[in-house]
Amino acid sequence: MVPETRTVGFKSGERNLFFHLLTACNLKCRHCYINPEQHGREMVSSEEIEQWLTLFHDPAKESNVIFLGGEPTMHPELARAIKVAREIGYASVTVDSNGYLFHDLLDKITPEEAVLSFSLDGPDPAINDPIRGKGSFDTCTDNLKRAVKKGFAVSLIYTVSRMNIDHLHRMVPLIAELGVHRFFIQVIGLRGRSAAEGPSLQVSPEEWFETVIPAAQAAAGLGIKVNYPKVYLDPDEPFQCAGRVADNFFIFPNRRVYRCPLCEDFPVHAFEIMDNQLVRQEGLTEERFFELNIPEGCVMNRLLQPGNIDYLPNGAPAHRVSCCLLKQEVIPGA
Ligand code: SF4
Ligand code: SF4
Repeated sequence: MVPETRTVGFKSGERNLFFHLLTACNLKCRHCYINPEQHGREMVSSEEIEQWLTLFHDPAKESNVIFLGGEPTMHPELARAIKVAREIGYASVTVDSNGYLFHDLLDKITPEEAVLSFSLDGPDPAINDPIRGKGSFDTCTDNLKRAVKKGFAVSLIYTVSRMNIDHLHRMVPLIAELGVHRFFIQVIGLRGRSAAEGPSLQVSPEEWFETVIPAAQAAAGLGIKVNYPKVYLDPDEPFQCAGRVADNFFIFPNRRVYRCPLCEDFPVHAFEIMDNQLVRQEGLTEERFFELNIPEGCVMNRLLQPGNIDYLPNGAPAHRVSCCLLKQEVIPGA
């Protein structure tokens, strides 16, 4: 059966909270984009976690929360945060982890309470560990297997870069063997440590499409749902900026709240949490960029990664770049 590929549009009846509990991490991945200079070095306190989960929950919408870091399982109150989110009424709770699962997380929550998302950047230690750190492949896969055995829904995130693009196809049999339910293929951005290494880690659009689509189809053929970024819009596809049409909030320990992940390295956050209220910021904030309509599509991509855009002889962009939050989904054949 042929897997079906579709664009996952932004849903007006949905709110997504990307809750960074801390910026600390036990690893030092080469492509890490965590930015303590911009987002602080403290942890969100237990009291603030509860307050902020309450503040952002919208009973009129399907509210979902994704706990992130740094490494969110290094936060001693993560298990409690998951339970509080469920009590408040969040429809889904996801933890994005590097796989170390500190503080015995698997023993403190149940499979009904959260989906666990593991990051792995290679099909074996020889590919993964130079990117993510010595021993990280074994630790991540061991804990992933424990989670599957306990009945958790488990997803896996693979960030494609020059360092591992040739090994993406080898992930397909591995994730099937591990029992992964959903496979997220990400593309490296020019942020954080990868920015310091320059464009040398980036893959070309041709390499991306030649490699990612066959791997996504192969994984879907084995019954695994796959998501990957849209990147380029089809000629007749409308451009939409999530900052204008979606209800996403990216929250950081220093109380900054962004609507766009590409803006996170700059003090242009749309909101700040002050006295437990969401306060809109004045002046040049990301919301001013969202309003600009340009032929290239995403304004922030045009500003931050202009090298990603090719132009025709008449000066028009060869492709429009989609919002970085727009995803393609490959559904296993029914
Ligand atoms: S696990 Fe995540 S937060 Fe930690 S260094 Fe790697 S990319 Fe950064
Ligand atoms: S990535 Fe681009 S299109 Fe998406 S929210 Fe940010 S500015 Fe808007």
